[in-house]
Amino acid sequence: MSDAKIIDGKAIAADVRAGVAKDVARLKAEHGFVPGLAVVLVGEDPASKVYVKNKAAQTVETGMLSFEHKLPAETAEADLLALVDKLNKDPAVNGILVQLPLPKHINSEKVLNAIDPDKDVDGFHPVNVGRLWIGARSLVPCTPTGSLILAKTVQENLSGLDAVVVGRSNIVGKPMASLLLAQSCTVTVCHSRTKDLPGVVRRADLVVAAVGIPEFVKGDWIKPGAIVIDVGINRVPKGDGKTKLVGDCDYESCAKVAGAITPVPGGVGPMTIACLLKNTVEAALIQKGLPALS
Ligand code: NAD
Repeated sequence: MSDAKIIDGKAIAADVRAGVAKDVARLKAEHGFVPGLAVVLVGEDPASKVYVKNKAAQTVETGMLSFEHKLPAETAEADLLALVDKLNKDPAVNGILVQLPLPKHINSEKVLNAIDPDKDVDGFHPVNVGRLWIGARSLVPCTPTGSLILAKTVQENLSGLDAVVVGRSNIVGKPMASLLLAQSCTVTVCHSRTKDLPGVVRRADLVVAAVGIPEFVKGDWIKPGAIVIDVGINRVPKGDGKTKLVGDCDYESCAKVAGAITPVPGGVGPMTIACLLKNTVEAALIQKGLPALS
């Protein structure tokens, strides 16, 4: 039985998309342009194909332009770089997303670094990483942005909270730590070498788990009443020959102790694409020299 408030990521993501649709309508009416997102898929990875399809569908649903570029797995790195260069120069394209993972013969870092930082809606370009850490206007990675929005639906002002981020990846853990620092949290970043991880997590008013290990964070690590944001998405056997999705937190035991918790699925997952759409609007505003919309 769960005592914690369940943070409904599906509903909150729908609110974010509705906000994006409103912003897009406003930009069209007041400034006469419609933001566009280009998504590039190289190869036939089934999960990537589903992500790209969902991204394109939701882009169109919010009233934006969607440009899909599907390239064969054997595409040469130079040809992919040439496409990125073309998209960088295309005024109809405000956001560029190259779906990862790329085939092994392509240097992902080289491709991501070739994207114009102002069109880098994934927020992975070193220029955006730097801008985020110095508190400048930037495009911020989507999953941590969505995680922060979820935490703030529980408690709008996070100032002074002890926040513990478990995981230090460039995609989730590090940008999450930066966003929480900007909210004036006292941030601890844990990783595979952290000593007494349960003891560190027990100090947290806010826990963000981004480890990639199914049901890793246990309920007896959680401070009573803490906010728990579970970024993990892990597919595990269900016992009947089928599989199910679980997070990086042991939901059942954590929900007994936490004040609020995100479920998996239906927590952080739906927020990622919603924040990608938000970033596409923000990218368009940056390129046009317009202020951010609230
Ligand atoms: P990653 O593998 O790049 O990083 C995992 C991090 O966890 C590393 O920094 C590592 O130091 C840390 N770690 C590993 N073992 C540990 C241990 N025993 N104790 C403490 N820390 C440990 O993973 P990632 O890309 O950051 O993804 C993390 C999770 O989030 C995965 O489950 C992934 O599927 C999920 N994810 C979800 C979304 C989404 O849209 N919701 C997006 C990206 C990632």
